[in-house]
Amino acid sequence: MYLRRSSLAVFILAIFLTLTNLPVISVQADTNIQMEDVAVFHEFGGLVTFQGRILTDQDIQSVFLSIQPAGQSIRLVEITPSAQGEILVQVDSDLLALRAFTMVFFWFEITSGGGEKWTSDTYHFSYIDNRFDWETLEATNLQVNWHDRDRNFGQDILNVAQQALDTVPSLVQANIPNPVIIYVYRDPADLQSALSLVQQSWVAGHANPDLGIILLSIPDSPSQRMELERQIPHELMHLLLYQKTVDSYTSLPAWLKEGLASIAEFYPNPDYPRALDKAIHSNGLIPLNQLCSAFPSDASGAFLAYAQSSSFMQYLYNQVGTPGVVNLLNAYDNGFGCEEGFKSTFGISLTDYEMRWRQESLGMDVAGLAWRNLGPYILIGLALLGFPLAVGIISIWKRRNQVPSEG
Ligand SMILES: [Zn+2]
Repeated sequence: MYLRRSSLAVFILAIFLTLTNLPVISVQADTNIQMEDVAVFHEFGGLVTFQGRILTDQDIQSVFLSIQPAGQSIRLVEITPSAQGEILVQVDSDLLALRAFTMVFFWFEITSGGGEKWTSDTYHFSYIDNRFDWETLEATNLQVNWHDRDRNFGQDILNVAQQALDTVPSLVQANIPNPVIIYVYRDPADLQSALSLVQQSWVAGHANPDLGIILLSIPDSPSQRMELERQIPHELMHLLLYQKTVDSYTSLPAWLKEGLASIAEFYPNPDYPRALDKAIHSNGLIPLNQLCSAFPSDASGAFLAYAQSSSFMQYLYNQVGTPGVVNLLNAYDNGFGCEEGFKSTFGISLTDYEMRWRQESLGMDVAGLAWRNLGPYILIGLALLGFPLAVGIISIWKRRNQVPSEG
């Protein structure tokens, strides 16, 4: 599909903006095919436009554009260049399943009329959310981006992120992805729309661990610095857990991922104790083995699941420290299931350990609770046992008091 004439002016301007990142010319020594003016620009959630010019004195049989978003498979687009060798093609970002801020690689494969094949250099661009003008600050291993706020806010993000990089990796002995990239939106609705525009659900926070990217929304408020100090280390832990486990990251127990992420936060969530307290008194705690694959989808259930995971993980961490947690991660990385991995690492079942946590950390009377839960059944059992016993006693008593009949 070619560019509409009406949008040509915008298109040319955008080409100028993006051209600087790309090599201007690509030559392959053993052919007489060359490409120049390769450029790309995109409208976030809309069309991605690729442009270039083929320089050759040969006939062109076919031109293919190969597009590969980071971590995804290659898509091929056949292109018909103009008689002058101009290439101008638009591809719907939906078709490419582009994730926000992902790096996208592309190259051209040209076959001449004589059957000679030629492949261009590989170019790349970042599929940034260009609805906003992002400002950037960088440090070692780190890039932070924000929009519509002053430089001090950017410095706050950078400072918190650096502090997180200094402290969080040692909790799980993980390598730091290089670089960690953070984008901070101002309005939660903008972040949500960014994710829905690319039809992406970043459940449980906004880390895209395989890309090393963290997306946050921090509204203007007096507590925005505290929010950064809570959310950045939390999402960094997700990135680190991915670094440690890669392919098995998605199958790590949800309580483990979110529990570790929450103990990485610089300040514990002040609302968790209240949620736990309420659940304890209404006998509403969720058994941990029901939080292995996912958290409840309803808001209050999910909040309780976070609170429980946080408290349980803090208890476990206090007991076994980093070496124990690392052993547990290794067990899951080696393919053990949620309960098997726990048992094989610590020699105690997840359920038994959960009872210990309830008793020692939440102060619950687990034995009393068991009695209260089992009490009615025990009484019924006793009653069922007692009934034949009573019948027996009565019949013996009756027999003893019978007067022998005279016959
Ligand atoms: Zn999380």
